[in-house]
Amino acid sequence: MFVNLNVSYSYSGIMRNLILLKKNYPRLLALRTAGVSHDGRDIPLVRVGKGDIGTLCIAGVHSRENINPIVLVAIIEKLARTYYSAGESLLDNYAIYFMPLMNPDGYEISTRGFGAIRNDILRYRCEKIQPDYSGYKFNARGVDINRNFACQAFMPSLYSGACNSENETLTLIRVCRDNELLGMIDFHSRGNNIYYHRAAMSEEYNQKQLQIAQQLSLLTGYSLNSPELENPDNLSGGNTVQLFSETYHKPAITIETVEEEADFPLDKKYQSVVFDAIKEVPLTFLNLLVHGH
Ligand SMILES: [Zn+2]
Repeated sequence: MFVNLNVSYSYSGIMRNLILLKKNYPRLLALRTAGVSHDGRDIPLVRVGKGDIGTLCIAGVHSRENINPIVLVAIIEKLARTYYSAGESLLDNYAIYFMPLMNPDGYEISTRGFGAIRNDILRYRCEKIQPDYSGYKFNARGVDINRNFACQAFMPSLYSGACNSENETLTLIRVCRDNELLGMIDFHSRGNNIYYHRAAMSEEYNQKQLQIAQQLSLLTGYSLNSPELENPDNLSGGNTVQLFSETYHKPAITIETVEEEADFPLDKKYQSVVFDAIKEVPLTFLNLLVHGH
């Protein structure tokens, strides 16, 4: 394996691994820059598979949830290795799109401190918002990206920004618009559980969501969150899965990795634990949406 789940990676370490994987598995992987963050970092998009139609898996929206980005890179490597050694017909005809690091500026802050931000004005503002960098979950403009998307439950607040105001938000919107996606999963931490209910959507939509979530629960051992937990404080709206479900009426699941009691920044010991729990999720999710089983 190129990815070593026993070590912690910086933003550039994650990018180096993606480039390495692209070089070693050129028949299966395509790597491009989907957008650029406010402090000037590339937001990578990887297509795994030869088809155009597919699913999307994203991670790192909240910066302090710093385990999932490298775990998704390790899953990309696993998919590529398996494909090169044994083949995978699903990936001959479809694709899994990955955006493993949605918020690269925030990732750098939460893992290395505010000194990682190059722009003086942005750095000063971030430090003011939350002096403890290890718990930082925003982007470099102090916005919670997962409260920034234009959707029914969007609620203006201190950290929401104006609807769709952030580079990271617009990058995801573009990727969803420009690719033919059957569904998406957004990986967060913590809780070892799965959110599937979308209050803005129909009963029929939510029944399908429940069926998919039950399959993913069996696979991961993660529990299902009840519908009331989607937005208990009315301040949790404006997130990625709401945008996707309301715009495309296709499945959109949130998976919370890592036990609830874990401290931020998340210890690197969780990387291999989470990899083992979710490594089959992306391909299983694609299979469920293509074949229904
Ligand atoms: Zn989160």
